[in-house]
Amino acid sequence: MAAPGPAVGIDLGTTYSCVGVFQHGKVEIIANDQGNRTTPSFVAFTDTERLIGDAAKNQVAMNPTNTVFDAKRLIGRNFDDRDVQSDMRLWPFTVIKDGKKPKIQVEYKGETKKFFAEEISSMVLTKMKETAEAYLGKEVSKAVVTVPAYFNDLQRRATKDAGVIAGLQVLRIINEPTAAAVAYGLDKKVGQERNVLIFDLGGGTFDVSVLTIEEGIFEVKSTAGNTHLGGEDFDNKMVEHFISEFERKHKKNIQSNKRAVRRLRTACERAKRVLSSSPQASIEIDSLYEGIDFYTSLTRARFEELCGSLFRQTQDPVTKALRDADFDKSKIHEVVLVGGSTRIPKIQKILQDMFSGRELNKSINPDEAVAYGAAAQAAFLSGDKSDEVQDLLLLDVAPLSLGIETAGGVMNNVIGRNTTIPARKECTLTTNVDNLQSVLIQVFEGERAMVADNHSLGNYNLTGIPPAPRGVPQIDVIFDIDANGILDVSAEDTSRGKQNKIFITYDTGRLSREEIERMVSEAEKYKKEDEVQKQRIGAKNALESYAYDMKSTMEDDKIKEKVSEEDRKTVIDKCAEAVDWLHNNQTAEKDEFENHQKELEQACQPIITRLYQAGGAPEEGMPGGMPGGMPGGMPGGGMLGGFPGAGGSGGAPYGQSSGGGPTIEEVD
Ligand code: AMP
Repeated sequence: MAAPGPAVGIDLGTTYSCVGVFQHGKVEIIANDQGNRTTPSFVAFTDTERLIGDAAKNQVAMNPTNTVFDAKRLIGRNFDDRDVQSDMRLWPFTVIKDGKKPKIQVEYKGETKKFFAEEISSMVLTKMKETAEAYLGKEVSKAVVTVPAYFNDLQRRATKDAGVIAGLQVLRIINEPTAAAVAYGLDKKVGQERNVLIFDLGGGTFDVSVLTIEEGIFEVKSTAGNTHLGGEDFDNKMVEHFISEFERKHKKNIQSNKRAVRRLRTACERAKRVLSSSPQASIEIDSLYEGIDFYTSLTRARFEELCGSLFRQTQDPVTKALRDADFDKSKIHEVVLVGGSTRIPKIQKILQDMFSGRELNKSINPDEAVAYGAAAQAAFLSGDKSDEVQDLLLLDVAPLSLGIETAGGVMNNVIGRNTTIPARKECTLTTNVDNLQSVLIQVFEGERAMVADNHSLGNYNLTGIPPAPRGVPQIDVIFDIDANGILDVSAEDTSRGKQNKIFITYDTGRLSREEIERMVSEAEKYKKEDEVQKQRIGAKNALESYAYDMKSTMEDDKIKEKVSEEDRKTVIDKCAEAVDWLHNNQTAEKDEFENHQKELEQACQPIITRLYQAGGAPEEGMPGGMPGGMPGGMPGGGMLGGFPGAGGSGGAPYGQSSGGGPTIEEVD
């Protein structure tokens, strides 16, 4: 591939992803090969190939168990996580347990394959990278990737790992609402200080951020949200509703038929979108289950009732974000809507009522704003000196408090919620047992007093503590959160006047460096396979187009007069032979298609040349215009070079905790 291209911004969404690039003083959102500006975050595996994006989503009803979506709902979570367990019941694909982590199991080319969520997300990122490369005509190796503000350390780290597997250097992980605020700020050219509330409700996640924007500085004051609330949950409510309706009407439960449920879900999502602009939507699915057609409808009022409790769940984070920012509602200058689900009128109404009927800001495109802001940030981080981005400064915050477990299971907060990041905080610990040489610190996130009520981020095992009576060691534990919101924990023993290095190993359910390296090389392998497949299909299509074009050329009335009947018959027969062969050899290799095409060309070319000489060249725009040419376009082509090696994913060393250990106490 040609010269390296600019860094891009990628909104890696639960349901859709979007990529943008800052060029010539503005952000451009890039359309994919189907002409769509957002790409479904879907990956499908079939007997013959791997499909990503629109191609994967389009075949989902035919291949529900091997079409994977929602990887963002799995990434950075443990298999036993409550949300994972409840999502699994709705997914048509299989999720299995591998150590602590979930893995997605599919059939690909007749074999069972298992993937971590990071790998599936990396495939979506690869698609976005290739979309940008096709548009720019340059290799793209750097990106800013967005995550929900409420993503924790593990989810952020896993997203960064997905970037590495896709061969991308992730310049920065930024928060989706912050990126959207950048889009709003650039759009409005905000000069004077403005307090903005970003309300971001997408397919799978909900985020609220309160920011102050002034002269290119975007300072996040607070953030709140729910990593598991979005359009898909509304779809699920509709699916449940219609499954019951079908059962009532036909005395049959379709639940166990994955294909039927998938078809119903697709129809529900479509109906939901219709309900944003019409009071009623109809659902018409032929032969949904055991040959029974399902024709029904839903009113907006009923939809609002079905999803009422979910819609109301958007209120708490708004209140919390305002409280944390210490802003009264009246201090908010603008409430900005982001994410496809903010098109739902009831959602807008609930929010508007919270702000005493204030007009909501819908000026930025809810589907593209996040990628837009990410692209601007990517340009800034790569040193673009354009006026629009050169002063762009994002000051984000940690979404949740981070702390460690101390004696009695008490949560000792080290970094408070909404602390501006990057942040570095220390706390000093000691031992409660004589001569203890290693301690296990358990890191949690959350706001509750007891760690049992918070969420575990992993165990860090500190070793190499010089033997000493209990209470003597002074271990400084340092929490570093970088600008990506990723945590690094380090520790020092300062009790003897000199600093002793403490070694840390951890067990947080992250991928090890070796695992990432393996995935990088597998990603490369899959990419090569995709390329072979693409070229094979290209060669097949080229042969088919050539045969049909030649045949129709010979059947054209104007041409008929200029070519002998014998020649015409030769071409038509040869073409029919080739088409016949094609029908019986759909899975042939690229070379075979090419050889057949060569043979066909050899048979047709002299006749077409004679036709030209007789002044009978087909008119421009007619099929078969060029003698011996390649109607139907070039097979294959357009694929990109391989992946760079595994870049460092930053942060602490990879390793395994030896586990266990007595509790530790905080030093006063
Ligand atoms: P995003 O993650 O921001 O791309 O949002 C995608 C979600 O928005 C999906 O769940 C879509 O079903 C939903 N969505 C998109 N357009 C509409 C609409 N007009 N009405 C309701 N939901 C929508």
